[in-house]
Amino acid sequence: MATALKIVPPEARVTSFVSRKHKMLINGKWVDSASGKTFPTYNPATGEVMAQIAEGDREDINRAVTAARNAFENGPWRKLTASDRGRLIWKLGDLLEENLEEFAELESLDNGKPLTVARAADVPLAADLFRYMAGWTTKIEGNTIPISVPYTPGARYLAYTLREPVGVVGQIIPWNFPLLMAAWKLGPALATGNTVVLKPAEQTPLTALRLGELIQQAGFPDGVVNIVPGYGETAGAALAAHPDVDKIAFTGSTEVGKLILQAAAGNLKKVSLELGGKSPNIVFADVDLDTAIAGSASAIFFNHGQCCCAGSRLFVEKKVFDKVVDGVAERASQIKVGAGFDPNIDMGPLVSKEQLDRVCGYLESGFSEGAKAVAGGHRVGDRGYFVEPTVLVNTNPDMKVVQEEIFGPVVTAIPFEDASELVRQANDSEYGLAAGIWTRDIQKANRLAADLRAGTVWINCYNIFDAALPFGGYKQSGWGREMGHEVLEQYTEVKAVCSAM
Ligand code: NAP
Ligand code: MG
Repeated sequence: MATALKIVPPEARVTSFVSRKHKMLINGKWVDSASGKTFPTYNPATGEVMAQIAEGDREDINRAVTAARNAFENGPWRKLTASDRGRLIWKLGDLLEENLEEFAELESLDNGKPLTVARAADVPLAADLFRYMAGWTTKIEGNTIPISVPYTPGARYLAYTLREPVGVVGQIIPWNFPLLMAAWKLGPALATGNTVVLKPAEQTPLTALRLGELIQQAGFPDGVVNIVPGYGETAGAALAAHPDVDKIAFTGSTEVGKLILQAAAGNLKKVSLELGGKSPNIVFADVDLDTAIAGSASAIFFNHGQCCCAGSRLFVEKKVFDKVVDGVAERASQIKVGAGFDPNIDMGPLVSKEQLDRVCGYLESGFSEGAKAVAGGHRVGDRGYFVEPTVLVNTNPDMKVVQEEIFGPVVTAIPFEDASELVRQANDSEYGLAAGIWTRDIQKANRLAADLRAGTVWINCYNIFDAALPFGGYKQSGWGREMGHEVLEQYTEVKAVCSAM
C-alpha cells in the first residue's frame, strides 16, 4: 500500500520562492514582523522545515487594519467603477491560471496533497472563483420600493436601497485547501468593494503569500489586501477582536469558531463561519453498487479526509452493507500513499504532526470502544505524517469516531434498514454541513434531501463544488454561505434611502 518516498524535485522557481525569508504584505509593502520573529513551515511528507515566515502578532494586525481602513476610507479603491473592480479581480484569476503549475507545486509541498490534485482542482477552482466574483461587481444592485406610510397621507416618496461594502474585513483560513480558501474569502470581499486583512493557516502560508504578489501584479491599490501570517492564538485572535474590523470571516474548527464569535462581540462585528462537519453519505440497495462504492470512497478519502464536508459517516442499506463495505475497503487498500510530488500516489501525508496525532488518537479511541478496521487503521512508516485510508465497522452512535470530526481518511460504516430511522440517524449530529445520497429512485432521493439538515446535499455524486453553488452549514457547521450570490450578502450592508418628492 505505501510506496517508498520518491520526491520528484519541484520547478526551480518554486524552490527559489520557498527558500526565501517570507515577509508579510501590509499597505502594499512586504515587511518583517514588528517583533522580528519568524515561524517555520514544514514539508509534511518529510517533517522537515521548508521555510521561515514572518510571524505576525497584535502589532502587525494593528498595522494591517490601519492600512485596510485607510485604503477603504481614503484610497482609490472605493472610487473605482464596478467594471474596473471586476477587471482587477478577473486579472487575478488569469494570473493564477498563468502560474498554475507554480501554485500547484507550492500547495503540494506545503500541504502535502498530491500535485495532480492541486493542479486539477485547487488552482483552477481558485482562478474560476475570482472570475465568477469578477462578474458580480457590476450586478450588485439595490431595489426601488413602493412605500405607503399611513401617517403621512398624500405625501410621496422615492425609496430605494443601496448595497454597500461592510468595510474592513478580517479573514482567517485553514490549511486543508490553502489557496482555494483564500480565494473563497477574498473573491466576494473584493467584488463587493471591501478591504481585507487575511491570516492564512500557520501550517500552509506559502500560496497565500505568493497570491499576495499576484494581487500586486494585478494592480490592486495598496492596502486593499493585507496578508499577515502568524499563529491563531495571537494574530488570529487579535484580528477577530480588533475594534476597527467591521466583519470577520472564518473557516476552521467549530471550537475556534465559537472563540471568534466571542472575540467579535466587543465591537459587534459581523461574523460568518464555515466550520466542521460529520457528513452522512447514504447508499441505498437499489443503486449501481460499483458507482456508489467508488463515490463513497472518494467522498471520504479525497484530500485525505481533510475536508469539512467529508462523507465520514457511511450509511448503507442493510441488505447490501457487506458488499458496499467490502468494496470501499478494497478501494481503501488500493490507495497508494506517498509524497505529493510522487506522480504514482493517490494520497499524500496529513498536513501536520498534530493532525497525525489527532487522527491516530481517534483510531485508538475507536478500537478501545470496540470498532474494527476492515481496511487501514494505522500510521504509514515513521517519517512524514502518513495514515492508511481506514474503514471502521462495529461502531455505535455514541462512539467518538461516530460523533466527532476526525478530519482524516477514516470512515465509519453503519447499516440501516428503515427510511425514517435513517433520517433520525443521519441527522443525529451537532453538525449539518453536507450529505450524500446514492439511489436510482430520484423521488426517494429528493424526499430525503428535504429531510436532511445539511447545507449541501449531493445526489449520486459527492464533493462537487462550483463558484456559483452556495456552500455552508446548518447547526454547528456555521453561519452564512460561501460562494454563489448568497455570499455577497455577507459582505454588504443594505442602506435604505427615503426621499420626499
Ligand atoms: P483551527 O484551529 O480552527 O484553525 C483554523 C484557522 O483559525 C487557522 O488560521 C488558525 O490559525 C486560526 N485560529 C486558531 N485559533 C484561533 C483563535 N483563537 N483566534 C483566531 N484564529 C484562530 O483548526 P486546526 O487546529 O488547524 O485544525 C483542528 C481541527 O479543525 C481539524 O482537525 C478539523 O476538525 C477542523 N478544521 C476544519 C476545517 C474546515 O474547513 N471546516 C478546516 C481546518 C480544520 P493557526 O493555523 O495558526 O492555528
Ligand atoms: Mg507546511
